[in-house]
Amino acid sequence: MDIKDKLLAAARESAANAYAPYSGFKVGAALLSSSGNIYGGCNVENASYGLTVCAERIAAFKAVSAGEREFPEMCIYTDTDTPFYPCGACRQVLSEFNPEMKLTVVWKNGKEELNLNLLLPKQFKL
Ligand SMILES: [Zn+2]
Repeated sequence: MDIKDKLLAAARESAANAYAPYSGFKVGAALLSSSGNIYGGCNVENASYGLTVCAERIAAFKAVSAGEREFPEMCIYTDTDTPFYPCGACRQVLSEFNPEMKLTVVWKNGKEELNLNLLLPKQFKL
């Protein structure tokens, strides 16, 4: 199983764990670190909708809190008929660590590989 397959498997597993009782929209993300570890994340909704956190940010925060800082690649999975790309907040958070991150967006019948800087050019930087 190559790394792309491992990332997709982890993203799918994470999507199955999504806590999405309000939207029913389940997302899984899998973030690869430069050390070779994979960190999965799922969306976690809340009755106070604004507190919901996306799968991509949960994967990133898990990885960072484990001491990781370099992330070459992420896979994002939704069991949908059309692709779903990361929201603006997640684009900014991922860009903090690697504006050139390779993203693979996977849905029911397809996948697309793209670079984060295509989704978020001229990101905010201090
Ligand atoms: Zn997001």
